Amino acid sequence: MSDNASDVDSGTVYLVGSGPGDPDLLTVKAKRLLEAADVVLHDKLPGPEIIDMLPEDRREDVGKRAGGERTPQSEINERLVELAREGNAVVRLKGGDSFVFGRGGEEAEYLAAHDVPFEVVPAVTSAIGAPAVAGIPVTHRDHASSVSFVTGHEDPTKEESAVDWDALAATGGTIVVLMGVGRLPDYTKALLEAGMAPETPVALVERGTWPGQQVATGTLETIVDARDEAGISPPAITVIGDVAGTRESIVDCLRTDYGTAEDEA
Ligand code: SAH
Repeated sequence: MSDNASDVDSGTVYLVGSGPGDPDLLTVKAKRLLEAADVVLHDKLPGPEIIDMLPEDRREDVGKRAGGERTPQSEINERLVELAREGNAVVRLKGGDSFVFGRGGEEAEYLAAHDVPFEVVPAVTSAIGAPAVAGIPVTHRDHASSVSFVTGHEDPTKEESAVDWDALAATGGTIVVLMGVGRLPDYTKALLEAGMAPETPVALVERGTWPGQQVATGTLETIVDARDEAGISPPAITVIGDVAGTRESIVDCLRTDYGTAEDEA
């Protein structure tokens, strides 16, 4: 049972987003719940600084099992129900926002199906926050009136690809790709084939707001080489569209906690 009954409800699961990684970007509510929870289930995506804040005896890493493979979602779901039924106040902590490519929706469904009360605590998604600290607004009155958030995990040449790259190319708006480092060559090719201009600006923001944030910039044609030169690896956000080019005009004056233009690859 919780010692902090006034702050959290025992037997309840809190689906909490951590924000992109800087502890200062946790919401006040997320911080309060992390302090009061009996147990926090997390993976690596909240980033090293936030994970280090969690007391070791009250946290469970459910990201990877021994041997390195990913813990099946079904096991995480079952663990959440089990801990709540034991009377714990449980925080399920996800990187960014739990409901943006975070499986929060699946966890909510599972909890509801098992009659476990839960609360959803929204957060800054890396899809917006990582570009922002790198000086890239995902919309801009002069450059983009829409923004699409898509997964880059899928093979764009697959018959039944869940992401319609042709349709995205036609929007004229910003395309923000999550989980898109590995397949960058595939979907930039798909967008070029769909008729997007080769000089369309593209930026990659790796570990946005973490120590060691890295940015690489280029165009639809050059970004794969820029990725390789900079050694960009996951987690990173890809921003495609004219907004990615506005960075250049502001970056000299852009001050952040995560380094300045000098760190740019
Ligand atoms: N729920 C998360 C997304 C989870 S999907 C959110 O709202 O941010 C995992 C992907 O998120 C990664 O592959 C990467 O594309 C992105 N991501 C998460 N944290 C990031 C960070 N700090 N910097 C850059 N990309 C990040």
